Amino acid sequence: MLIVKDMCKEYPNDQGQVVRAAQHISFEVAQGKLFTLLGPSGCGKTTTLRSIAGLEKPSSGEIIVGGRVLYSSDRKIFIAPNQRDIGMVFQSYAIWPHMNVFENAAFPLRVGKVKYSKKQIEDKVLRALHAVALDGLESREATKLSGGQQQRLALARALVMEPQLLLLDEPLSNLDAKLRERMRFELKRLQRDLGITTIYVTHDQSEALALSNEIAVMKSGHIMQLGSPREIYEHPANEFVADFIGTTNFLKGHITSLSERSGYFNIQTPIGNLTAFSGESLRVGEAVIVSVRPENMHLSIERPDTTNVLQAEIHTKIFLGETLDMQVKAADQIMLARVHPNFSPHVGTHVYVHIDEEKCIALSDT
Ligand code: ADP
Ligand code: MG
Repeated sequence: MLIVKDMCKEYPNDQGQVVRAAQHISFEVAQGKLFTLLGPSGCGKTTTLRSIAGLEKPSSGEIIVGGRVLYSSDRKIFIAPNQRDIGMVFQSYAIWPHMNVFENAAFPLRVGKVKYSKKQIEDKVLRALHAVALDGLESREATKLSGGQQQRLALARALVMEPQLLLLDEPLSNLDAKLRERMRFELKRLQRDLGITTIYVTHDQSEALALSNEIAVMKSGHIMQLGSPREIYEHPANEFVADFIGTTNFLKGHITSLSERSGYFNIQTPIGNLTAFSGESLRVGEAVIVSVRPENMHLSIERPDTTNVLQAEIHTKIFLGETLDMQVKAADQIMLARVHPNFSPHVGTHVYVHIDEEKCIALSDT
């Protein structure tokens, strides 16, 4: 449905230097999927999205939607934004305060090139409002809507033209935490029900994990990893991704030997020896970083009868309701373990930490 091929975008800055906002961005999105660009502020998410919309002209590359070339530097093609059949919702979605709900949603139909009849407009608007569960509120003043309803109205306005591609730039960031979580589910359901191909931009990793079929993790204009939420969470390609997605512990070490199990390596770390998985082809002697998620640190008082066991001491405890976050100290290293609140030994207790080999991920330390 969408192909972005080797897209670069450079801006001149005030000092006359070049800002490489997007560098060699390539990805494809299948029909009906929700694809997320995830990364910290300034990494190039909005630039990429605006380039797809045609609001920015890339410096080079190619953008194809539904088999139609919208931009190609080689073939000197640039299709204007209003000819692209793309709907977009920005972070600062603007609801027209002097219009009611119906007129807000009808706005794109009224200003577009195509002239629709009164009946056509009514049909399209009611369908879009129904999709976002705002039916019955057509004559309500837009400013009298709640934050979540205004957000849905912005979405209805993007949907009213029935675009083949929907672009959402941090659409939930203006909402409070509770509403944001609820809207997450609503967005997911809506996107799936409508089957509309969607590119979603966020800096919020939990939002990305919850919503996406596939995620591109970005840093400084580059895509660092492309994959499903599970792939990215369980098998981060590098230290940046492991650190950015969720919480993780890092242990520096080096490879002492290859494990008998293919893809696994024996690693010496300051707090003990571990066997870890790696997607990379690492060599003996190579410096690595081992990433271990807090929920994969299994603590016990008795030494478990297995491999990959470290000795540690309870350092600090934080009660979080469903879980207990425990800092454990091994050698001089503090690590975070997330455990069931029923297991709550006193600070200072000696414990054993067991980590499954599959849950130790070795990353080349570059
Ligand atoms: P994100 O959406 O991930 O926060 P952006 O795409 O907005 O990142 O910005 C990426 C980089 O490009 C940043 O360094 C930003 O300062 C720069 N940038 C964005 N828009 C412009 C512009 N119009 N002119 C100059 N630099 C820009
Ligand atoms: Mg942005």
